[in-house]
Amino acid sequence: MPIAPIFRVNEFALNQGSLQDFVDCRRRFLLRHIRRLAWPAIESEPALENERYMQQGARFHHLLHQHLMGVPEARLSAMLAARPADEDLRRWWENYLEWRANPHDFAELWQPQARLYPERSLSATLDGGGQPVRLVAKFDLLAVLPSTEESGTARLLILDWKTSRRSLSRSHLEGRMQTRVYPYLLARAGERLLGLPVDPDQVELVYWFAEEPLNPARFPYSQARFLEDQRYLNDLATLLLRLQDETDFPLTHDERRCAFCTYRSLCDRGVRAGEQAEAEIETGQDWLPDLDLEQIQEIEF
Ligand code: SF4
Repeated sequence: MPIAPIFRVNEFALNQGSLQDFVDCRRRFLLRHIRRLAWPAIESEPALENERYMQQGARFHHLLHQHLMGVPEARLSAMLAARPADEDLRRWWENYLEWRANPHDFAELWQPQARLYPERSLSATLDGGGQPVRLVAKFDLLAVLPSTEESGTARLLILDWKTSRRSLSRSHLEGRMQTRVYPYLLARAGERLLGLPVDPDQVELVYWFAEEPLNPARFPYSQARFLEDQRYLNDLATLLLRLQDETDFPLTHDERRCAFCTYRSLCDRGVRAGEQAEAEIETGQDWLPDLDLEQIQEIEF
């Protein structure tokens, strides 16, 4: 029997995770974001190990946030040294420190002239066919790098920390909603936060991998890409508003997605969860899809 939608699309803010759900599987978007249906299933196996790994990912983000907010490196290193069980965390932290000491193409990022904005959110309104739809993102780190004589204008970096166990290919990352939404939102809404006009041609998104610190994935942005993303995101918002009253969003045709989806038993798409390492490749989610930093403030070191 059809169930009436609980939430309207313009009652909540879209983000890269909800948009990814929509493009991956409309049924998942309906269940997770319109009906907010909690379904008791683990997303990937082995569950306990994955839970631990997710916690480590959350702690790593929190650790870097503390460091970028001014907590001394020595204090954080000493704290980690006292926790021998946090092996992954310690390795990622050492990789991060090593990268900071030898940043190669990112030397300006760690110079005193760079302005750093860790854990900031930006939002903008999409045009859903004449109706407003809010889009938000929370960034691990935004950085304004000083202008050089050559460029004459400031470079803007978006850093996203990834703790995936397996490499995420460039083509995979390129297709993710995050790769569209982050630079688009910075170009659209960054001026108020940064205090300077944002030129899309000066924006770059960088995925930095804790397991491969010297091999970040870089995605330079551009005015042309900004206009393309604006059209694409407005079209998605329009489609979402049009479809939200439907009662039967279709299941994805790509059943590989179902192995890592909490709703698989509800959709009659299997019971057993897929392997986490495969899920990282399949979904691009290395731990939590949308980390709420207010939640991880509670994590102690
Ligand atoms: S189990 Fe498959 S069809 Fe059902 S919501 Fe998840 S991805 Fe979509």
